[in-house]
Amino acid sequence: MNEYDSAKIADVLIDRCGYTKAESAEEATLLIVNTCSIRENARNKIFSGLGRWRKIKEENPDVVIAVAGCVSSQEGENVLKQATQVDIVFGPQTLHRLPEMLAAYDQTHLSQVDVSFPEIEKFDSLPEPRAEGATAFVSIMEGCNNFCTYCVVPYTRGREWSRPQQDILEEITALAKQGVKEVNLLGQNVNAYQGEDANGEKSSIAQLIREVAKIDAIKRIRFTTSHPKWFGDELIQLFAEEPKLVNHLHLPVQSGSDNVLKMMKRKYTSAEYKEKVAKLREVRPGICISSDFIVGFPGETEENFNETMDLIKEIDFDQSFSFVYSPRPGTEAAKMEDDTELEVKKNRLALLQKQISRQAGRVSAAMVGTEQMVLVHQESKQKNGQIAGRTENNRVVNFDGPVELIGELVKVRITEALPNSLRGELIS
Ligand code: SAH
Ligand code: SF4
Repeated sequence: MNEYDSAKIADVLIDRCGYTKAESAEEATLLIVNTCSIRENARNKIFSGLGRWRKIKEENPDVVIAVAGCVSSQEGENVLKQATQVDIVFGPQTLHRLPEMLAAYDQTHLSQVDVSFPEIEKFDSLPEPRAEGATAFVSIMEGCNNFCTYCVVPYTRGREWSRPQQDILEEITALAKQGVKEVNLLGQNVNAYQGEDANGEKSSIAQLIREVAKIDAIKRIRFTTSHPKWFGDELIQLFAEEPKLVNHLHLPVQSGSDNVLKMMKRKYTSAEYKEKVAKLREVRPGICISSDFIVGFPGETEENFNETMDLIKEIDFDQSFSFVYSPRPGTEAAKMEDDTELEVKKNRLALLQKQISRQAGRVSAAMVGTEQMVLVHQESKQKNGQIAGRTENNRVVNFDGPVELIGELVKVRITEALPNSLRGELIS
């Protein structure tokens, strides 16, 4: 979501203010950091980064420094107190107002802060989307109403708000004309999508995906992130009917322990999660499932953690974004008693990640010999004259082929599985 927002910030500056990209921070006249406050570490990194920019500003006082994103949302004016070199503070829902904020700063030289939530005007004020490559993010809904006890998102991005279908389809059509073949529909809880359809009726995410699939040039559809509670039969059934939906689903479970899930207020049990995955695998055998995990939530016992490990083995997760729990100011969990030592939590995390990477290795190894559709993204990072792309289940494949194939979907036979990528040979 932050990558998407950063691209939108760049679009606004290029289209409406005539900015161009600087070669380096030292050459820039405007420096913006788009921030994340999901974990404390991410938040702290911002302030150390801003320390480096202070030096740039000391040498060139005309440079303007702005802080965007969820740290701004959460800390507002306090950002200015902690980092006096900052001139402008705006949130995820006010990024379209940046030109006005820059103009006001230019005239008055007074710092500008706007971290309000005027979601509805935002998308109407954004310029035409600019594609970079064959794959693109498209925001379909913003905010979250769930208030999981550990999470800052409902506070930093506000309540759920869905974009009308028509706006989304126009954005995707414009991207498709620029060569985009794969879209990733974004939202904090995409299953809660209820944007208006062409008749002014509420539409579900499944209905939206059916419409997106009608756009010929779009060959692959992904969506992130799904909340298991709202991952329902209509969407599951769509995996049976719609081949453009990729063979991969990211469905964050957070924990395999019902006790912990309850303390997190996730609103599902581990059995319900398993049931949904089983239904999905019935209609899409072999689909790869990835997840998010929080390890060391307050009160998580060794036994609770083992339940998570059992679930990981049972579902055979193929990839994860997993972190040690980080208390966030203003959330319910931050007030809960937490007597597990950090070392213990780190050990649990290491065990979890090792297990998932073992499982991912197995899936990769089983792909050797198979034919896969690969969306070619770039020249190989190994700089060996090869090109690289991604399979439906998100693996990087390097293979011999002409650079003209960048942006195309091609068939590749997988020849070798390495720890972080695959090798293959072009078939067609
Ligand atoms: N809406 C998505 C997740 C968005 S936040 C969902 O509900 O699944 C992305 C991930 O960050 C979460 O899935 C969670 O694993 C992690 N996360 C959120 N708050 C956290 C915290 N306080 N400490 C550690 N990880 C956290
Ligand atoms: Fe945060 Fe996701 Fe829970 Fe919303 S559903 S509060 S974004 S973890």
